[in-house]
Amino acid sequence: MTAARSVTVVGSLNIDMLAHSERLPEPGETLVGQRFVMTPGGKGANQAVAAARLGAHTVFLSRVGTRQYGSDLLQALEGEGIDCRAVHRDPQALPGIAVIMVASRDGENSIVYVPGSNAQLSAADVQAARAQLQASAVVVAQLEVPVPAIQAAFEIARAAGAVTVLNAAPALAVPAELLALSDWLVVNETEALLMAGGEASMEVSAAAECLRARGPAQVLVSLGAKGALLCNAEGQVLLPAQAVKAVETVGAGDTLVGGLAAALAEGQGAQAAVRLGQAAAALAVSRPGVQDAMPRRAELGAAFA
Ligand code: ADP
Repeated sequence: MTAARSVTVVGSLNIDMLAHSERLPEPGETLVGQRFVMTPGGKGANQAVAAARLGAHTVFLSRVGTRQYGSDLLQALEGEGIDCRAVHRDPQALPGIAVIMVASRDGENSIVYVPGSNAQLSAADVQAARAQLQASAVVVAQLEVPVPAIQAAFEIARAAGAVTVLNAAPALAVPAELLALSDWLVVNETEALLMAGGEASMEVSAAAECLRARGPAQVLVSLGAKGALLCNAEGQVLLPAQAVKAVETVGAGDTLVGGLAAALAEGQGAQAAVRLGQAAAALAVSRPGVQDAMPRRAELGAAFA
């Protein structure tokens, strides 16, 4: 195992079930749809796939219900070369499931998300994977699993000298102790403004500075097609996104975080690491799908070899 380069992702694994119909049904109404698709997702699994495709030795740390679908999803991750030995498999539980209705006439959607086994990941589960965490260069987490589990992972990572990356998505309250354990905080614009909790007129740059004051040495605010604002002790820099024709932007942030983590695990500096994440995200949004669209390292070209 190339321990010095490994990325451990502590996070969720979901299955998205999408039913497409002309319009969304009214309460109590049954519609006949045109198309049904099941795709793997979950911010944790997505970020693990992004990091692995970009060349990082990647460990996934999660609790996965294998009553239905969960085993297949894990097999798919293993097929990506992701080390899933630290995943707690729970035969009594379901994985996270998102049931998504999509209206084909205007793209509007309604979603019911059932967190399933993601909500059961505990600090004890994480502590059982202490050795994997200690062997990691970078430990990444998002907020689709319980905060005590993330906190336990970051405490072990910090003590072992690993870099901790918190992607505070979805937008939920983050305890001060967790922020204090995060070397990197990655959020999109909406999440940054909500977390900073300022006035409606607050500028993104002020929000980033306010978040950095709460602990993370590096705050990265992603701004979609405009790129990302990196804020650290050296100041703030806007790193523009590569211009592409966007086809599917779901998962852009996950690709950015996975790429960032992979580059940090190689020892790249902050700006270079963000640029690699952005290059991967730009390519991903230019193609259909979420995990399917995530690029391999060789596709990024010579600048990122
Ligand atoms: P999220 O998916 O979390 O909302 P963003 O939409 O901010 O995150 O996207 C994350 C990153 O993906 C951006 O910082 C940018 O580098 C890249 N990206 C997103 N949308 C585009 C786009 N239309 N063109 C090029 N790059 C994009």
